Amino acid sequence: MNEFLEVSWDDVTAQVLVRRSSRARRVTLRMTDSGFVITMPQRTPLMIAKGLLSDNQHWIRQHFEKWEAKKSSLPIDQILIHGEPYQVLLTDRRPAMPLNQEAKTVTIPVQDHTLARKVLRQILRRYAAEIIPVWVARESARTGLMPNKVIVRDQKTKWGSCSTNRTLSLNWRIVMAPQNVADYLIVHELAHLIHMNHSKEFWALVERHCPDYRRLDRWLTTEGWRLMMSFSREP
Ligand SMILES: [Zn+2]
Repeated sequence: MNEFLEVSWDDVTAQVLVRRSSRARRVTLRMTDSGFVITMPQRTPLMIAKGLLSDNQHWIRQHFEKWEAKKSSLPIDQILIHGEPYQVLLTDRRPAMPLNQEAKTVTIPVQDHTLARKVLRQILRRYAAEIIPVWVARESARTGLMPNKVIVRDQKTKWGSCSTNRTLSLNWRIVMAPQNVADYLIVHELAHLIHMNHSKEFWALVERHCPDYRRLDRWLTTEGWRLMMSFSREP
């Protein structure tokens, strides 16, 4: 799975995707359309990436502001929900039902692109807060792994986590991923209720409840980082 780092200044936090590549010969930092990306050789310690970030604070700040401005001026005409493209429709009336799962549309009562982004984020987060606990309950019943509490959070660098008091935290962005990926992430965190590590025993438990986990985990590495980096800024 990809790793993410954060760089903070004032009240701003920028995410940085760390991609490990067998072809990379050195550590590089660049700005892409999706955000900051560090590419580095497989075995280079993460500390080197952290060092690169602190050496380039000023550059990051400047580029982040430009990127933010550019991004918020672009119209969003499509978003992913359950891994499927939904068309974003802007209207001047308040829709009775913003999310239409049959028509695969999200209708929002705004005309302005910057505001549209903010409203879309709210709709997705609200939807995630409703639906993710339902999915966790289903996976809990199926696997027999019961958390004490489920929290849907706005995590910038993680898909989920599991605390020692058996609280499962899940990133709201998993509603954008395909359903089998979302289910894998839930099973992954539930399995941490038994093994608080990524040991062989942990992965065996994940595999028992989610036989296809390798492919789904790979999807997160190749595709999921775009979701992780979307709607990154709290409006
Ligand atoms: Zn884990």
